Amino acid sequence: MPAATLPASPSPFTIAIIGGGLGGLTTALSIAYHNPSLANITVYEQAPQYREIGAGIGIGVNAARILNKLGVWAAANAISGERNGVHRSCRRFDTGKEIVSVGAMDEGGEGGVRQLSVHRAEILEVLYRELRTRYKGRVRLETDMRATSVEDHGDQVTIHFANPSRPTAAANLVIAADGIHSAIRSQFAPDKPRYSGRIAYRGLLPLSAISATWPYPTYAVSWLARDKHFLVFPISKNQTLNVVAFVTKPEAELGDLKESWTSSAPREELEREYEGWEPTVGAVISAMEARPGKWRINDRDLLEQWTYFDGKVVLAGDAAHAMLPHQGSGAGHAIEDAYILGLTVRDFLADTSFNASLERYTFLYQSVRLPRAQKAQITSRHAGDVYELQGKDFEGITSYEEGLPIVREKLNGRMKWVWGHHVEAEYVDARERAGLGATKGREDLRVVPNENGVGNEKLERAGVRVMEVEA
Ligand SMILES: Cc1cc2nc3c(=O)[nH]c(=O)nc-3n(C[C@H](O)[C@H](O)[C@H](O)COP(=O)(O)OP(=O)(O)OC[C@H]3O[C@@H](n4cnc5c(N)ncnc54)[C@H](O)[C@@H]3O)c2cc1C
Repeated sequence: MPAATLPASPSPFTIAIIGGGLGGLTTALSIAYHNPSLANITVYEQAPQYREIGAGIGIGVNAARILNKLGVWAAANAISGERNGVHRSCRRFDTGKEIVSVGAMDEGGEGGVRQLSVHRAEILEVLYRELRTRYKGRVRLETDMRATSVEDHGDQVTIHFANPSRPTAAANLVIAADGIHSAIRSQFAPDKPRYSGRIAYRGLLPLSAISATWPYPTYAVSWLARDKHFLVFPISKNQTLNVVAFVTKPEAELGDLKESWTSSAPREELEREYEGWEPTVGAVISAMEARPGKWRINDRDLLEQWTYFDGKVVLAGDAAHAMLPHQGSGAGHAIEDAYILGLTVRDFLADTSFNASLERYTFLYQSVRLPRAQKAQITSRHAGDVYELQGKDFEGITSYEEGLPIVREKLNGRMKWVWGHHVEAEYVDARERAGLGATKGREDLRVVPNENGVGNEKLERAGVRVMEVEA
């Protein structure tokens, strides 16, 4: 694709995106891609550079399809390694025998879009490069800009930053993609991140360090035990193995453990946690760095409202719906948010009807994304329980053997609703139901508190489709 040049008569509408992680950069890309008339999109990142620290990330085929639409599929595919259509193989912790292996729902055929398994820094670099080349002049990428709050000024929002040389900026639409600890979310919602009940050891190792004996070079493997599970998957063209080892632990035992790459533990601690597990797990741990990362895994409550200041401020990505990592889909949902935001801005700018308002369109974004993201938050919690044979499904189970058929049943087909989803079709459908774009005439859209987090009657009447949570 050629570089998108500056429009001859740019729209005066200005957009600020707070946070330049996977969600923020994909949002900038989607808005620029869908809105050729926009020349004033700015990303404000708190860090001194656009960079992710080392770890792997799985991107499901639902999100990979979006990267394809936005023109970065080839670059993203090139940093992922060869795969064999398996999403994850779950195995016994003691013998390594297969419990169940789950397919990735990749699209078939030559060049078919598929699940990606990538290094976070490498995928962020793909997005960054695309913005710096194809959308240069239309998207600005600022650094050292930690947003602290937003203020409503009629048609515009003022953003305050903790940077004395550039203390404020203004925009017509502010998208807060500032992660699980979002400063902007905390201005509007009282909840805080809370401990999920599990910690994770994280690290990377070159596959060459274990390749002589490594039987799983092209897919993810999880070894499952009660209260622990050990996950690995290859990234960086299958040259690096990403390790995430989960352990259930009471909060009282965590001390001041943080959710951060600055927390680490000696490798011996990991060896003790997984003592007695089959030798492949031990071989991986022995090849890890001397001090792997040690993380407190946090969760967030379901949030019923993502748009504020009459629709001029919206939350996206983890800021809106941080979820536990057990379905490997948090980034995928941030990518879906990004895609829908690109479409809603496009349709808002194109709507010349007398009752067009930004609020109606940002509510449309929320109405499309909120039920699906909340379903993912709920099912991600459940997935963690299944991997560690915990929770109500395993009540009354007295042995590991008895639990395995339940694990098999609960994991089989579990990701179909995530990966089989076609986000644009859902958007078009919701827009019709909301009486925006193609269809006119509908009741006023209102944000309705929603106790169980999945949807309710009033939301349905407002044109929001409510999804059931699968067991
Ligand atoms: C152990 C673990 C494993 C995971 N594995 C997967 C996986 O395999 N697949 C998957 O899809 N998801 C996975 N996730 C979830 C995934 O990492 C997140 O859902 C995803 O990174 C969310 O992207 P985001 O851009 O919304 O937030 P973030 O990635 O957190 O990015 C937020 C950005 O905002 C910046 N920022 C923060 N505050 C401010 C501020 N006040 N002002 C300006 N900038 C700010 C930050 O510096 C950062 O750049 C995993 C998470 C964990 C913890």
